Amino acid sequence: MREAPLKRRMSIKLRITLWFTAFMAGIAGLCFAVILMVSGQLARRESLSQLAVTVQENRTKVRLDESGRLSMDETFRFYQNNVYILLYNKKNAFLSGQTPPDFPVDTPLENGVTKAASGGNEQFYVFDLWLPSGWDDGLWLRGVVQEPDSRQILGNVFNLFTFILPVIILSAAFGGYLIVRRAMKPIEKITEAADNISEGKDLSRRIGLPEGTDEAGRLAGAFDRMFERLEESFEAEKQFASDASHELRTPTAVILAQCGYMKKYAETEEEYREGVDVIERQAQKMSLLINRLLDMTRLDFGTQKPVWEETDLSRLTEILCEEQDTKKRGIILETDLEEGISAWIDPHLFSRAVNNLLENARKYGKDNGRIWVRLSRRAGEIALEVEDDGIGIAPEHQEKIWQRFYQVETSREDGAGLGLSMVRQIVRLHGGTVRVDSMLGKGSCFTVLLPDGKPEQ
Ligand code: ADP
Repeated sequence: MREAPLKRRMSIKLRITLWFTAFMAGIAGLCFAVILMVSGQLARRESLSQLAVTVQENRTKVRLDESGRLSMDETFRFYQNNVYILLYNKKNAFLSGQTPPDFPVDTPLENGVTKAASGGNEQFYVFDLWLPSGWDDGLWLRGVVQEPDSRQILGNVFNLFTFILPVIILSAAFGGYLIVRRAMKPIEKITEAADNISEGKDLSRRIGLPEGTDEAGRLAGAFDRMFERLEESFEAEKQFASDASHELRTPTAVILAQCGYMKKYAETEEEYREGVDVIERQAQKMSLLINRLLDMTRLDFGTQKPVWEETDLSRLTEILCEEQDTKKRGIILETDLEEGISAWIDPHLFSRAVNNLLENARKYGKDNGRIWVRLSRRAGEIALEVEDDGIGIAPEHQEKIWQRFYQVETSREDGAGLGLSMVRQIVRLHGGTVRVDSMLGKGSCFTVLLPDGKPEQ
């Protein structure tokens, strides 16, 4: 197997730390260059101002007396603050002072002017002042300063940097590593959690970072939501398998027992027909159960996605009520539907939920009783009520009837205890709620509340 390139073999932590350190070293180098440039210029400016100040200071300390002789104060110095002071007579002849080595002595004298002069390998700055004396005599005062040695400055800055640079680089590397390690911690947690889940160890685990606005928090949040969906799917799958096997076992056992009985004892066509009738009923029960289970599972797994349509709910409810066959038991269905209520629903799914409620009202309503269906819009919600005056539900069952396969009256043949759990599933999918108000022996009222507006896709 080919080995991965070095870049990939290095951890992201190491890579970022290296990048960061190199970047910091680059910045430090840049600072080094800037400081070098600035300090050279500063030194030049400093020595120029030193030159002017020193010469100006000395203008009163030296003079020609009446007899034309040079006289100086005691405080006069020929070398002061790195400045050499030279004196010339009015004919530009050198009188006194010590010229620095390599200084071009023939540099012309100009009153009040600072200029550069070079000699040998050295660069000088010169500042001259004319000090008049009497009518036509006078004295030239010249200050000379050597240009600051750039090599020395370089050396000084370099010395400083050979000490500072390693400190900067080491602290950048260390600090950078600490920051990166902190930043990478959530990623390590995510990896660990994902590993555990993929090995099937624990599906209920969550990364559990506080959902912040930073990238790691959002990534962890996205993973947690994904794990939640996965867990729900696995749970739904497990639930489906156990529900299905549990509920299909009884009709299958009846069918098998019936077949065995018929094989052994049935002789006449009549007896066979009776047996086949039993088998048919059980098979129908199984078929209904399988269809309902499949529907619910599709909704659970999200394979059946709702198709949202803006629907005239008033009209849809009216049609669903008209389709109900209530005549058999003499039940009267009364409707009170506010007109023109439109809602964003999946009409197919929602019809199934309403049908389940209507069927229950019919099944559990009393003979020659009544069913009321009401539809209205209230404070930002759409309310659909299906009420009957039938057997009612005892308070202890009212919570449980929403569970799968839960039936209060087990003696009832038709139905599998899946209707209401499907109603709740569909209503929740629409972002709504459903509840029951019921009194045993008096009747029940199921209320569906839907948000009035377009659902989030
Ligand atoms: P199924 O009707 O298939 O048994 P459901 O999930 O629709 O299953 O209902 C669960 C249980 O709730 C029913 O078995 C019944 O006991 C009770 N129930 C539902 N609707 C009504 C109603 N309108 N009146 C009285 N009891 C009801």
